[in-house]
Amino acid sequence: MILQMMKVLLIIADGLGDRPSPVLGGKTPLEAAIKPNIDYLAKNGITGLIDPIAPGIIPGSDTSHLTYLGYDAYKYYTGRGPFEALGSGLKLEPGDIAFRANFATVDGNNIVRDRRAGRIRSGTDLLAKSLNMKIEDTDIFFKEGIEHRAALVLRGEGLSPEVSDNDPHEENVAVPKVVPLSKKGEKTARILNEFYDRSRKILNEHEVNREKREKSMPEANAILFRGGGVVPELPNFEIKHGIKGGYIAAVSLVAGICRLAGMKNFTPSGVTGSTDTNVVAKLKAAVEGLKEVDFILVNIKGTDIAGHDGNGMKKKEFIEKIDRAIGEVLMNEKDSLVIAFTGDHSTPASLKEHSSDPVPIFIHYKGSRRDGIENFNEMSVRGGTLRLRGNDLMNLLLSSANMAEKFGA
Ligand code: ZN
Ligand code: ZN
Repeated sequence: MILQMMKVLLIIADGLGDRPSPVLGGKTPLEAAIKPNIDYLAKNGITGLIDPIAPGIIPGSDTSHLTYLGYDAYKYYTGRGPFEALGSGLKLEPGDIAFRANFATVDGNNIVRDRRAGRIRSGTDLLAKSLNMKIEDTDIFFKEGIEHRAALVLRGEGLSPEVSDNDPHEENVAVPKVVPLSKKGEKTARILNEFYDRSRKILNEHEVNREKREKSMPEANAILFRGGGVVPELPNFEIKHGIKGGYIAAVSLVAGICRLAGMKNFTPSGVTGSTDTNVVAKLKAAVEGLKEVDFILVNIKGTDIAGHDGNGMKKKEFIEKIDRAIGEVLMNEKDSLVIAFTGDHSTPASLKEHSSDPVPIFIHYKGSRRDGIENFNEMSVRGGTLRLRGNDLMNLLLSSANMAEKFGA
């Protein structure tokens, strides 16, 4: 019998998993949320828990999304430099060398007085713009982040991350020259030292810093960088899995990873990456996109934001918002799609940080087994069919969609 292939919608509510919350009467946000659509799909589908990477490993959104898409994070995660730069919204290419950077304050003798430039809050966008330049044949991109944080990216031939930091990681010492850690790093070290010198001049003369001088505020007059890494070349998603993939993500980090995997962007305008986002627009764009590709990952960030804010009530309410959007957009599509819903990790509101707690997941498709759980949450799904690691997910989705091949005769 030839089975009908189905298309796959993977909804990742970022940081979905949680722990019991005092403000929710000892329930988790999922447990407390009124979410009839999610509960219907879970009840009539298969459910369980997923360890995004492995039991006891606390995932970042980058390492978990890599793993879910079938990429070994221990191989392709090349450090915080490249992945934070991806998160900055810079459109990176494989082979780019990226560093984490700080705006800092140094004195006339090049001594670091404040590694964070007084935790500068305004004007960093203007400062960052002035630091894009070309040195030799190398393009340099600089992008501001939150407060003093920024990303520094080098693109060109013959570059390597095998160089020292110029960030001394302490104050009241001089900014050291960058030195190559191997022969490969020589050109990169030379360019970084030139960048440092040029950026000192540019920043010193910049209007934003002139104003700070007048107000006797710490100037953001130097760039300290550290943790260089190379942007990885991810094997193309379509070649790897044999299906066309797309993504919808307001968060630059997730979008950047999917883009490196060669997936197509279907993100509608006006999504925010926070709890005020338009979930309906995202799911509608996904249904539309699935006419063109076979698989779409939708990342919905608000759950993680509420978790980091320590706000279990807001997380519960945001889950309810996702549920209403699922009700509005997906309930008519449920018999033609494989619909999977999970998180990329837990972000318990009680911790305000990611944890290694496994995350509940359901997969619903026409003809699937029915686990029959009534309320989809961290505890109830223990009675379900699935117990997964993140790198099982693509296999399971492909086989649910009748797109997997038999292993053996
Ligand atoms: Zn995440
Ligand atoms: Zn997070």
